[in-house]
Amino acid sequence: MLGDESIVESLAGLVIAGAGGLTAWAAMSPWSQLFGPVLCRADSPRTMALTFDDGPNPAITPALLDLLERYGARGTFFMIGRHVRENPGLVAEVVARGHSVGNHTDTHPNLFWLSPAKIREELARCQDVLFAAAGIVPRWMRPPYGFRGPQLAPVLRRGGWAGMALWSRAMFDWKPQPPERMLRRMARSRGGEILLMHDGDPFIERADRSHVVIALEHWLPRWADAGMEFVTIDKQARQLQPLAAG
Ligand SMILES: [Zn+2]
Repeated sequence: MLGDESIVESLAGLVIAGAGGLTAWAAMSPWSQLFGPVLCRADSPRTMALTFDDGPNPAITPALLDLLERYGARGTFFMIGRHVRENPGLVAEVVARGHSVGNHTDTHPNLFWLSPAKIREELARCQDVLFAAAGIVPRWMRPPYGFRGPQLAPVLRRGGWAGMALWSRAMFDWKPQPPERMLRRMARSRGGEILLMHDGDPFIERADRSHVVIALEHWLPRWADAGMEFVTIDKQARQLQPLAAG
């Protein structure tokens, strides 16, 4: 059986073969700036940004909050509107405990195929429910799967968003798996990175992401001992430029 990485690589290969290499790279690579500027590194080599997508998830997020608190770590949670609607109290708790929240759309579609109007609607529905749940108005968004087309950056610029936040390192943690695999992947993380992790699943309620908690339980104290500071996406200096244009 193929590992997660090889499956993703095979899929990426298929898309590249079918859609033209440059377009696929610009649409899928977390580091491509061709379809608009993206945040994919933390500001300093002494910092690390822990990010968690596809929640809130009552089966995992509370344990994650306790763990982060134990090491004084702040994280950023890119939440999905449909899960927020089911768990508004959990959003309020994430905010109350000092973490940042980002917008991960309302229903987790592939934005590459959506019109600007549909993208605005996906983002607005998520913003509305986040505001209702916790009184917050997130300024950063993360496109589902990291996929975006040339239409996304203008939507964000005109909407006054700080920008789209992607990542420098994915943990390939979006399926239940033995925690040992997560431990090995996390070992490669370095300062200055934005780590992509998952506390939920876009389409499954109460998804099992216990491997994420177990792996962080191992690495958080080690990173903290090494002097790493855990920062949120909101604390990053970089913003989409120029904010007022377009
Ligand atoms: Zn996602």
